[in-house]
Amino acid sequence: MITLALSKGRIFEETMPLLAAAGIEVTEDPEKSRKLILATTRPDVRVVLVRASDVPTYVQYGGADLGVTGLDVLLENGNQGMYQPLDLRIAACRLSVAVRADYDYASAVKQGSRLRVATKYVGLARDFFATKGVHVDLIKLYGSMELAPLTGLADAIVDLVSTGSTLKANHLVEVERIMDISARLVVNQAALKLKREPIRRIIDAFASAIPSA
Ligand code: ATP
Ligand code: MG
Repeated sequence: MITLALSKGRIFEETMPLLAAAGIEVTEDPEKSRKLILATTRPDVRVVLVRASDVPTYVQYGGADLGVTGLDVLLENGNQGMYQPLDLRIAACRLSVAVRADYDYASAVKQGSRLRVATKYVGLARDFFATKGVHVDLIKLYGSMELAPLTGLADAIVDLVSTGSTLKANHLVEVERIMDISARLVVNQAALKLKREPIRRIIDAFASAIPSA
């Protein structure tokens, strides 16, 4: 049996065409079922649904043989002990700094002000501002980052941006692009040895189906 860990939402949706290229179709709709283990058209392949930030944990400890997870998750929560053969170029977005449209970020940085920054990505934000030489107080949030500058909780946020429409709807503007993010295939190292052939075939099929740049 080969187990693939996915998270619901964009990772699941955007992984489906890659699975199709490997001749694998998920036979249940995760938005309609409460099941956490989904069967596929291949009796030896199943999908498990986990929180986006739990995908690397499942793969690292062998709860899943393969997984699809954002580079943001891998960099923030650790990517040790996993084989990372492919940038799948799906779930593409960027990690950015955003502020209220009426906040003068450039002046605050220039004056050496201490910025209050709210984010789910405390590690990545700390590294980014340290490299820039900007002093920050980091506030850890688990979601709805856009709210922080609007309520006075923070001066700025560090969050993922794709179209920018969520920022716009909340009167925020992107002031720095920290890095480009996309989803990666991760593979358990022991599984790669023990189930080499079937896993190789999946990796090769995924590689052939990656959307072009
Ligand atoms: P959870 O819902 O379990 O708290 P999450 O909100 O991080 O986790 P998703 O919103 O499904 O889960 O995002 C999963 C991944 O999709 C992210 O880790 C990131 O790599 C990618 N992604 C692409 N575009 C965006 C975006 N605009 N906002 C958030 N994530 C995005
Ligand atoms: Mg979410």
